[in-house]
Amino acid sequence: MKNLIQKLFILFCMVITVNETFSQEKIEPGDPPNNTDIPDFYKSKLSDIENEVENVKLGEVTVIATSPGGLPVYAVYYGEKEDFHSKANYNSAVAARNPAFYAKKDSTTKPVVFFVGPVHGQEVEGIAGLVNLMHIAETGKDYRGKDWSSLKNKIDKCRTIIIPSGNPDGRKRCPYDSFVGLPTKIMTKYGQGTRIDGTSWGWPQAKSVHPMKGNVRILGAYFNNDGINIMQDEYFAPMAKETAAILEIARLEAPDITVSLHSHENRPLVLQPAYVAMFMKDRVHDFALSLNKRYEKAGLAYWPSEWFWTPKADDEEFPPKTTFNLIGAMHHISGTMAFTFECSHGSVSDNAPDPFVNYDDILDIQLTLYDEMYDYVLENRLFWKL
Ligand SMILES: [Zn+2]
Repeated sequence: MKNLIQKLFILFCMVITVNETFSQEKIEPGDPPNNTDIPDFYKSKLSDIENEVENVKLGEVTVIATSPGGLPVYAVYYGEKEDFHSKANYNSAVAARNPAFYAKKDSTTKPVVFFVGPVHGQEVEGIAGLVNLMHIAETGKDYRGKDWSSLKNKIDKCRTIIIPSGNPDGRKRCPYDSFVGLPTKIMTKYGQGTRIDGTSWGWPQAKSVHPMKGNVRILGAYFNNDGINIMQDEYFAPMAKETAAILEIARLEAPDITVSLHSHENRPLVLQPAYVAMFMKDRVHDFALSLNKRYEKAGLAYWPSEWFWTPKADDEEFPPKTTFNLIGAMHHISGTMAFTFECSHGSVSDNAPDPFVNYDDILDIQLTLYDEMYDYVLENRLFWKL
């Protein structure tokens, strides 16, 4: 009898799940409320993106996809697009021994910088950063009034593409606008979602069902409303329109440098890309070191230098642990120097009893990353010449 009741309950929950309209998740009783101390400059909401794109004057705003939840995925462009005189796709051009057959890039063309905003909806820090970056591209200042005219000068020397949120469905369902001071397990609960019995899917089990459907009570903000994790999509036949649109920008724009913005509990970190050319891993490694030094100099959270290890081959042993994810896909479509950046959420746990960051730190970590990307690409650009 107990078994039957349990089964009926699970069936009931599944019906509820299927019929869910996917509005913002309600914070469950017992969980902490949304932070109330979020400063105005911390623009981490979808409404902040809407306000910003409405006020873009120097750039160009397009909707590159509509999410399964009916939300626009925006891309904002600054700087003219160059004609790269493309004769072949990247793969074929490399096979012909010169990526210039795909995109001719020399000192007469501007570097292209591509920011892929959070594809995991709970990783709101990247939205706060990119909304401020757009404000800097327009005015030279962030929303604190801090001067970033040197960053604006660099933006003006490049072509920039900004996707402020790669997964608006997930962001809309996330009931928290920041996780500063909140328990990491709450971030995990709403970020990766829960099973019908209320237990958290957690990492990495949240990737063991894809699309995430069926045994779901809270659909994690990781996923769009179809249960797709854009970071682990099927890149040869994308399941999410958001993924296809991101890849198409990479293909058309041939970005010199691309970041996919993420967040975790720990200190800020550039992750080593998997399944890309070794020379590109070396470049990302150099970039990661110089960014880390900048964080140290600025008094922000950083890693001891001995923590960084030199790039190596992927998965020399079975079973493999790294994947051909969005980063590898963008690289192999366009040759871009792509990497994942993990910001700090500022969440707390036994491992991190005190937050690594406050709101100001998060914004500085984001804007310093962007500034360093422009520096890197302006000083260390790879030319592709015929
Ligand atoms: Zn993530």
